[in-house]
Amino acid sequence: MINFNKPPVTGAEQGYIIEAINSPKLSGDGHFGKRCQSWFEEKLGCKKALLTPSCTAALEMAAILFDIQPGDEVIMPSYTFVSTANAFVLRGAKIIFVDIRKDTMNIDETKIEAAITDRTKVLVPVHYAGVGCEMEKIMDLANKYGLFVVEDAAQGMMSTYKNRPLGTFGHLGAFSFHETKNYTSGGEGGLLIINDEKLAQRAEIIREKGTNRSLFFRGMVDKYSWVDIGSSFLPSELQSAYLWAQLEHAEKINEKRLSLWSHYKDQLEPLVKKGCIEAPSIPMNCKHNAHMFYIKVKRLKQRTMLLNFLKSQGVMAVFHYIPLHNAEAGKKYSKFIGKDENTTSESERLIRLPLYFNMTHDEVIKVSNAVTTFFE
Ligand SMILES: *Cc1c(COP(=O)(O)O)cnc(C)c1O
Repeated sequence: MINFNKPPVTGAEQGYIIEAINSPKLSGDGHFGKRCQSWFEEKLGCKKALLTPSCTAALEMAAILFDIQPGDEVIMPSYTFVSTANAFVLRGAKIIFVDIRKDTMNIDETKIEAAITDRTKVLVPVHYAGVGCEMEKIMDLANKYGLFVVEDAAQGMMSTYKNRPLGTFGHLGAFSFHETKNYTSGGEGGLLIINDEKLAQRAEIIREKGTNRSLFFRGMVDKYSWVDIGSSFLPSELQSAYLWAQLEHAEKINEKRLSLWSHYKDQLEPLVKKGCIEAPSIPMNCKHNAHMFYIKVKRLKQRTMLLNFLKSQGVMAVFHYIPLHNAEAGKKYSKFIGKDENTTSESERLIRLPLYFNMTHDEVIKVSNAVTTFFE
């Protein structure tokens, strides 16, 4: 059987976890946590990188940092994970959904402006499959209307748009190290990067339960106290130790994924040429990280048949998001502005094929052959 995903393992994880266990500090921002954060600050060129327990937590921190108040409107695509929306709903915001583009499944930047009102406070582009949104146009809109931007770059580590890392365009960027992502911190984990320096100090406070503990540790205040709202947004050193073992091999993991991705593309090219399926398209100005290899079939019914067929062949392929505006909670907390031309119809056609760091090229061939057999 070929799993849809296996969490990435490089081999160095156990040693680092044991090192963390034997160290005097197991709580957040210890030796491994700091190493990871410096790595991201250097790699991404951001003002500050703060590890979090999840991308969900990073997005929740963003909503607090932007001072979201009940009634504020937050614009995002409906084709995304629930946390993108929930983080803001928790602060009382109303979610405003805009249609996606067919080619990348990302928010359609040309449809955002029509959804902006005087209650709009934040734009949340989601870089689906690690392929960048049109960040130049999105930042122009944000500047024109004075809006905050947090990039949901949960899937976007190591990807670029116009040669600049995803996550570094908005005021904030949120990443995930869940086991299904390209890098994991042992199953669950995340990262908030701060690009707007004005948000940096408050981000540390919110993350430290609303206290100025990080300033205290740096010797900048002589005792720490309650200064703001906040919560517990630090991961443990065990998670950071796992993540460090992955970051040391970040390039290797990325290259392996890209080679698997390209192999799929080659293997499935004949089916694309025959018009049976569509393969992902990567805009010229984007470099992606092979987070996902998806195909699109004709319609929902065919997708169900293909998924069942693949399962019978021992291939665990899956579909992805059910658009949030069609979901039960979506009806309560959100509104879709403009026509849903692509969100529902394109989401119903999409299948994600197995792709993970320790997958073999033989397995790519097996999966591709199974897909090909179905169409024969
Ligand atoms: C995975 C994912 C999240 C949530 O990440 P967690 O680390 O599991 O909280 C949020 N948004 C997108 C687009 C994701 O893919």
